[in-house]
Amino acid sequence: MSGRLYVVSTPIGNLEDITYRAVRILKEADWIACEDTRTTRRLLDYYGIATRAISYHEHNETERAAELIARIEQGENGALVSDAGTPLLSDPGYRVVHAAAEAGIRIEPVPGPSALLAALVVSGLPTDQFHFAGFLPAKQGQRRHLLESLADETATLIFYEAPHRILETLEDIGAILGKRNIVVARELTKLYEEVLRGTAAEISASLASRDLIRGEFVVLIGKALEPAAAEVPIEVMIDALIGAGVDRMEAMKTVARERGLSKREIYKLISGPPGPKIKPGARN
Ligand code: SAM
Repeated sequence: MSGRLYVVSTPIGNLEDITYRAVRILKEADWIACEDTRTTRRLLDYYGIATRAISYHEHNETERAAELIARIEQGENGALVSDAGTPLLSDPGYRVVHAAAEAGIRIEPVPGPSALLAALVVSGLPTDQFHFAGFLPAKQGQRRHLLESLADETATLIFYEAPHRILETLEDIGAILGKRNIVVARELTKLYEEVLRGTAAEISASLASRDLIRGEFVVLIGKALEPAAAEVPIEVMIDALIGAGVDRMEAMKTVARERGLSKREIYKLISGPPGPKIKPGARN
């Protein structure tokens, strides 16, 4: 009879964040497929789990998937974990789970931590709808393009970010999405856990004032702040974007979108009403 595949969530920092069931399943499984056997071994040693660890990662996942499926079909029970949190979420595992589903294998979740949910529930931003988009592109052009495509999204946006890119990302968020409530959750469940709230510029200034920016980050973005933003004169919004490095046309496009106006209307507003033409030297 075929065995089962368990998809097991593991801690994102604090080793105590694991369920009783996860520990039991990891102990009882015939093997544990891990991204990095050394990383997972630390967790297994902490809980006295001696189960064999098999490595799978982005680069060997397809071949490994076939091998793991064959084992399960022969009756073995396997557990899939990633280095931290929930496998498959910005982590490998999809190919194994997809192949198992295709093979008709029973797949059971063993739920637990994930940085995106941990960050969302402490953010103070709306939780009724959220849009998780994984890691933002490393290249600025692609990153800005993606942010633009999400400008009208009203759900809370959630991204993972690396410490060496957090400042660039906050700058792009401010430039493309305008003034919004931003939350940056750093090192959740760890010694230096912190949750920063404010505008992109405020959080950026707080991080930039540090000697070194390190740790793991989740960035959350609230929907556009319409009533408050509407009090700011259009010219000031455009100038602020230009000051942040956005070109004039792009700044007009962003402000038009935020104000629910067409580019033509924005252009008219900033050019002012057509007044009387005054000839040089004319008196009034
Ligand atoms: N699968 C994992 C999960 O369920 O959260 C995420 C894996 S992804 C490769 C790693 C990224 O998750 C980090 O770069 C960071 O953006 C975020 N992350 C992981 N642990 C975190 C923590 N303790 N605090 C804040 N962000 C964290």
